Amino acid sequence: MTTFSLRQVRLRSGEEYRDEIEIDVEPLELGGQRYIVVPEKVPAELSIHRASTGTVFQLSFRARLHGPCVRCLDDAVLELPISAREYQATNPMSDELRSPYVADDKLDLSAWARDALALALPEQILCRPECAGLCPVCGKNLNDEPHEHEEETSDSRWSALSELRDRL
Ligand SMILES: [Zn+2]
Ligand SMILES: [Zn+2]
Repeated sequence: MTTFSLRQVRLRSGEEYRDEIEIDVEPLELGGQRYIVVPEKVPAELSIHRASTGTVFQLSFRARLHGPCVRCLDDAVLELPISAREYQATNPMSDELRSPYVADDKLDLSAWARDALALALPEQILCRPECAGLCPVCGKNLNDEPHEHEEETSDSRWSALSELRDRL
């Protein structure tokens, strides 16, 4: 877990601090599947800007995410540019003015980077935009073996199964 100690940065209003930091990004769990950041350590740029009423944190990095395609379960790789921003009021009156990643003068970079990554994900993680998925009848990968089945395998167990699947 990568944290950044805010004690080392003393800024007056209007001042800014910049740093390059390697962040450990933990795997994401999505729909029961695991998505891993490769390499796990991501070089990131952190900037801390002190405004009159609080502090603005900005984090930017690029991450490569590996995990199963939601259609065919083959390995999908996503390259995601991330740019995230957090604000922490000097005297927060409500939770909205408080960053969830700041606690005890520490900035939790790993948690922030993982959440920012989760927010940047596309709706569906696919190995390629036109992924054909798995055949609903025989389960083979339609990208590797494009095929269709004859309609009239009516009384086979497979069609019962695919009907069941259509209803789900
Ligand atoms: Zn796919
Ligand atoms: Zn098939």
